[in-house]
Amino acid sequence: MTRTVYVNGDYLPETEAKVSIFDRGFLMADGVYEVTSVLGGKLIDFDGHARRLERSLNELDMPHPPELGEMLEIHRKLVTENGIEDGLVYLQITRGSDGDRDFAYPARDTRPTVVLFTQSKPGLADSPAAKTGMRVITIDDVRWGRRDIKTVQLLYPSMGKMMAKAAGADDAWMVQDGFVTEGTSNNAYIVKGNKIITRALSNDILHGITRAAVLRFAREAQMEVEERNFTVEEAKDADEAFVTSASAFVMPVVQIDDAVLGDGVPGRVAPRLREIYLDESLKAAI
Ligand code: PMP
Repeated sequence: MTRTVYVNGDYLPETEAKVSIFDRGFLMADGVYEVTSVLGGKLIDFDGHARRLERSLNELDMPHPPELGEMLEIHRKLVTENGIEDGLVYLQITRGSDGDRDFAYPARDTRPTVVLFTQSKPGLADSPAAKTGMRVITIDDVRWGRRDIKTVQLLYPSMGKMMAKAAGADDAWMVQDGFVTEGTSNNAYIVKGNKIITRALSNDILHGITRAAVLRFAREAQMEVEERNFTVEEAKDADEAFVTSASAFVMPVVQIDDAVLGDGVPGRVAPRLREIYLDESLKAAI
């Protein structure tokens, strides 16, 4: 099926959408993105993603996108036009192009490139991996130092996913100075006793929208949350582990490298948090 996509104000069949070869997103990875999940035809945590988008644009001194209300309208129109029940809306804004390649930014009034498309994922919230849990490997975190900005520089996370695949695992956790930063496309957590431990926010990790919601729900449910660095050894010795992201929600991790956690099946905390997150997010979906 040909999707309808959005490019700079136009809704077009995907086969007719065009972006300049001089676009700085293409030449320099000079762009930011957001992924918002859709469940039952509704957007999950749209406001959180819109706020982070604004922050990413500010941090890179990029012109602002269409205003929030218009963004929401574009998201909704694509969901409806493409008949998305469960799936994702991908949004990307780049610094655009002034028709040539140059390291210096083009003039500030250069039109940014705004692209949105949908991905249909029937049964997104019923992933079998949520029942069995994921296996992760650990790899060096060699990304740049501003991981808090959600840029389209995804080559190393892609390489990480390929390393995981080659090792027969599902994903990779990245490690800096012995401490876990985050997963290739998710935030990482361990559970010890009744304590949920996850790295604190800084430039070292993406400020996950799902992370913010899950930690809020965990605290509301009287669970103890500790935001601090944890080592790979500590993770391997944990009772449970899990990751969060807009598309995976809360996903249990049952193995880290060769270390099997607990009984090798999802424990008590991650499945409970997944349930709470999905319930609450569906209630607030727009
Ligand atoms: N960390 C990284 C590196 C990611 O790519 C993502 C997903 N975009 C996340 C964390 C999770 O963020 P969110 O919950 O906002 O999807």
